[in-house]
Amino acid sequence: MSKKEFDLIQDFFKRSSIRQDVIQGIGDDAALLQPPRDQQLVATTDTLIVGKHFPENTSAFDIGYKSLAVNLSDLAAMGAEPTWILLALTLPEANEAWLRQFTQGFFSLMQRFNCQLVGGDLTCGPLSVTVQALGFVPMEKALLRQGAQSGDRIYVTGTLGDAGLALAYLQKKVPFPLTEEQIKFILRRLNCPEPRVDVGLALRGVANSAIDISDGLAADLGHILTASQIGAKIYLNKLPLSDALLNLREEEAWNFALSAGDDYELCFTVPQARENILRVMLAKLNCLYTCIGQLSEGNCLLLQDKNGSEFILKNTGYQHFRNKINE
Ligand code: ADP
Ligand code: MG
Repeated sequence: MSKKEFDLIQDFFKRSSIRQDVIQGIGDDAALLQPPRDQQLVATTDTLIVGKHFPENTSAFDIGYKSLAVNLSDLAAMGAEPTWILLALTLPEANEAWLRQFTQGFFSLMQRFNCQLVGGDLTCGPLSVTVQALGFVPMEKALLRQGAQSGDRIYVTGTLGDAGLALAYLQKKVPFPLTEEQIKFILRRLNCPEPRVDVGLALRGVANSAIDISDGLAADLGHILTASQIGAKIYLNKLPLSDALLNLREEEAWNFALSAGDDYELCFTVPQARENILRVMLAKLNCLYTCIGQLSEGNCLLLQDKNGSEFILKNTGYQHFRNKINE
């Protein structure tokens, strides 16, 4: 490690310890961590690359925030409580002003969820951010994709398609005016998604299956259907849409809500017998949630409009390798 690298880690990443289960944090060859007894470790990692996962001119604050948020969202979808974070950062140059903003975004979210940065790596190259998030869930309480049962009601948190609309807006592909407020709202949804950690915790023992929506509802619900070998019907008029999305023609709004990526809302299924518990558990949380359909026998995803007619999607969700191999 060079002197410069050491200074940057000291100045920007090493903070006083806030968790007793961190025996050795940043500073040794690896972190030494004390997992709680009787809980299972949940681990995830996600990389954000400039130009692919965020536009070139995204602020350093937003990149810091979002790189952590997308990982916490994965833990939320497992019903896990986040605890420890690792950060591998590749930077084109040691720009301290950029690093200050990046760490503000990153640590603002970290503190809210009582997580601690316990290690990482710092290298020079094209901007890329890889975060690893670790957390815990009591034995056999994790929310998996494979537990869904016929008859379960399908729910989603928040509103869908806002981040996709924001991306279209940034690419100047939105052919109608949005109000200042709507623009602010959708850009926030794209750059600073709220990881639904509290909802994930509340769903332990309540939901039969869960996933976070990163590639669009149709694709991600599709993963639950495949893993659980089950079918589903979605009622399109039930899809939760923000004010901004209601500007669009109905079919266009549905396309965004069903197949645009980057929502980071949770999609989960609950047996009807537990819907009352669900209401009690989620009433304490300040989070919109909506029943949008139901699981059924079979293996297809049926999208139904209010007249009962079937709706055919333009595309089914973001796929990184759609046109390329070995990207
Ligand atoms: P090594 O050369 O042994 O791999 P490093 O020089 O990569 O060690 O890192 C030294 C210490 O600083 C380690 O504890 C490592 O986890 C931590 N660290 C390095 N980069 C970061 C970063 N971006 N964020 C947090 N901790 C970091
Ligand atoms: Mg290293």
